[in-house]
Amino acid sequence: MRAEIRVTGIVQGVGFRPFVYRTAVRNQLRGYVRNLGDAGVDIVVEGTKDAISKFLSELRSKAPPQARIDTLKVRYRDVEQGIREFKILGSSDKVVVPGSVIPPDIAICENCMRELRDPKNRRFRYFFITCTDCGPRFTIINRLPYDRENTTMKDFLMCPECRREYEDPLDRRFHAQTVACPKCGPKVFLTDNEGNILDVEDPVSECGKLLEEGYIALVKGNGGFHIAASTLQSEPILKLRKLKSRRQKPFAVMARDVRAAKTFALIDRYEEELLTSPVRPIVLLKKREDYYLSEEISPGLHTIGVMLPYTGLHAMLFDKTCEPAFIMTSANRAGEPIVTRNEEAYKKFGSIADYFLIHDREIANRCDDSVVRMHSGSLRVLRRSRGYAPEPVKLKWKAKRNVLALGVDTNTNVCVLYQDKGFISQYVGDIEKVETAEFLEEAAKYLMKITNVEVEAVACDLHPTFNSARIAEKIAEELGAPLIKVQHHYAHIAGLAAEAGVRELIGICCDGFGYGLDGKAWGGEILYLNEDEITRLAHLQPQPMVGGDLAAKYPIRMVAGILRDTEDIYSWLKNRSTLLPHGEIELNLILKQLERGEFTETTSCGRILDAASALLDICHERTYEGEPAMKVEATAYGGRRVLKLKPQIEGHVLRTTELLEEVYVNLKNYSKRDLAFSVEEYIAEGVASLAVDLAKQHKVDYVGFSGGVAYNEHISEAIRKIVEKRGLKFVSHNSVPPGDGGVSFGQAVYAAEYGK
Ligand SMILES: [Zn+2]
Ligand SMILES: [Zn+2]
Ligand SMILES: [Zn+2]
Repeated sequence: MRAEIRVTGIVQGVGFRPFVYRTAVRNQLRGYVRNLGDAGVDIVVEGTKDAISKFLSELRSKAPPQARIDTLKVRYRDVEQGIREFKILGSSDKVVVPGSVIPPDIAICENCMRELRDPKNRRFRYFFITCTDCGPRFTIINRLPYDRENTTMKDFLMCPECRREYEDPLDRRFHAQTVACPKCGPKVFLTDNEGNILDVEDPVSECGKLLEEGYIALVKGNGGFHIAASTLQSEPILKLRKLKSRRQKPFAVMARDVRAAKTFALIDRYEEELLTSPVRPIVLLKKREDYYLSEEISPGLHTIGVMLPYTGLHAMLFDKTCEPAFIMTSANRAGEPIVTRNEEAYKKFGSIADYFLIHDREIANRCDDSVVRMHSGSLRVLRRSRGYAPEPVKLKWKAKRNVLALGVDTNTNVCVLYQDKGFISQYVGDIEKVETAEFLEEAAKYLMKITNVEVEAVACDLHPTFNSARIAEKIAEELGAPLIKVQHHYAHIAGLAAEAGVRELIGICCDGFGYGLDGKAWGGEILYLNEDEITRLAHLQPQPMVGGDLAAKYPIRMVAGILRDTEDIYSWLKNRSTLLPHGEIELNLILKQLERGEFTETTSCGRILDAASALLDICHERTYEGEPAMKVEATAYGGRRVLKLKPQIEGHVLRTTELLEEVYVNLKNYSKRDLAFSVEEYIAEGVASLAVDLAKQHKVDYVGFSGGVAYNEHISEAIRKIVEKRGLKFVSHNSVPPGDGGVSFGQAVYAAEYGK
């Protein structure tokens, strides 16, 4: 008998065809397997009924580790066509069903790592060692189907030995499109900052040595360039900070291995699993008490972002050094996307880096490293990019229509929602500059292309001047699809509900800033979501934001506004006026504006944490997104509750003035740590009890927590405990970022479910 099989999911670029081949041959079946242009796979087998059913069950149970089968449709025919053997056929461009996708990049596997270290292996110390189980995928693929000529490996002609492996069904590199060796594959070079190639035996380990000596190098990876430096010396880091005008923002590091990482960071079982997983993300880890790396890596924070080598090149960087870790941060200029082309790297970083470690393979898709952290054993994704993108987030139901969502203007990405899958693009960044705006549009179009989804609606933020909204408008027009504008926090909560598979919940959204339905700055919202609509039920007390965005940059402005009626606050403010760019003159102007009522108001939770940060003299200027609030969390770590004040709830408003007053009058009585801890407790208890009461009123079982503040472990855990203690179920994000990297997904869900 004959069976015609259609497989969708992640089945190209993960060794699926070789697996099908081996399984078919083992079961004495004849036929063929081939890749399709829609990222799916077509299989035909002929043989006995028993053999076919055994084959089908093995397809599911024994598939390669990186493969993901979504659907497997079989049509049986009684008549055989007399095929004599089983073959892997050339790919077809045929596009039949949307929804399959190419795999994300996969970190170097153990077998390749072993070969890299084996002097007898012909890929001994070859930086671009890969196999069917590992290597770049998303970053290397120009178009589908996944064949070598559709990748940036097309410029490298396989040598006879590589070709033999590629064609041998018993070889690990059977049909591995990235197969290469020192003879035929990409080559790596070490150059000075003008591009002159240095004559060294091993450019990679030589580069590591230079880093150890205190030089700064640009290192080309799979999805873009990293800036690399020593983690033991502060000088190169300070130089880097100065040249990149990046004063405080933490740098990620790449540790030699888990053992090395354990010498400076605390790592539990879950974190170790994440660090060594094929995704190999940056994991935010708590610094050890005897932390000995430079304090300049993540100043003022109790955490450090750590990843492990995920390519042969990374592993070799450590070969001739004693460094436990290197700084490895995306090479991008402020507000611009990560650099991917060699010429661009020299042009933009020639004045910053001393050396360049480059290779001659082009990067098809740029992709920054992903960032994650654990909250008591539960995963929070801060940035969903390399290793995840473009793998979809699965929903428990099918969306009512296919949507493309363009996200927001900070920390953004795009999302294509198709049935029960949310395809989230790689990290795009902040859409201020032309380069990033172009990247956003490119990423959107590429995602539509590789998923083959026919988009029926385009979604974007409600903000009237967002660049992302402008791009959404343009694409909607090109597609002839309706444009749906989605309120920022509605998107956060719609995304949370869809991710959790919940149709009704009370959602707490504690965030930085989002344009509200009333045109005001929202950011501390309690929303009610059901199958028909989302409504705003409660929020934080509106507080003055004198000078608009300036109040987010200089949180003293928030303190001045919140405590404007507090006795003798003036002397506190005056003592700190030098922390404002224009000193006392500026302070007096702020006070005058307050008196005259010349300000907008915000319900943002982030701004309250900012104000606390200034009031506790933790951070007086925001030099990167979320800085004051993150430093409050770092300061509060290990603290205890000292303030007696219970959450002040007035109707549907959680008051915050009393909280800041309480902190102010207790400044001399308690440590910063305990006061910061108490602020977080107040907020958590306040929003949680409001939400629980509303849930009981509306007879809802679930309370969820989303928004940028949901990264805060203490606040997040405190809310969870209160919700669970009062007999309700707590839901949080596990695969979609709670912050603005999750908004595109939420917009898409909202537009599909509630959009008109
Ligand atoms: Zn491998
Ligand atoms: Zn070769
Ligand atoms: Zn947000």
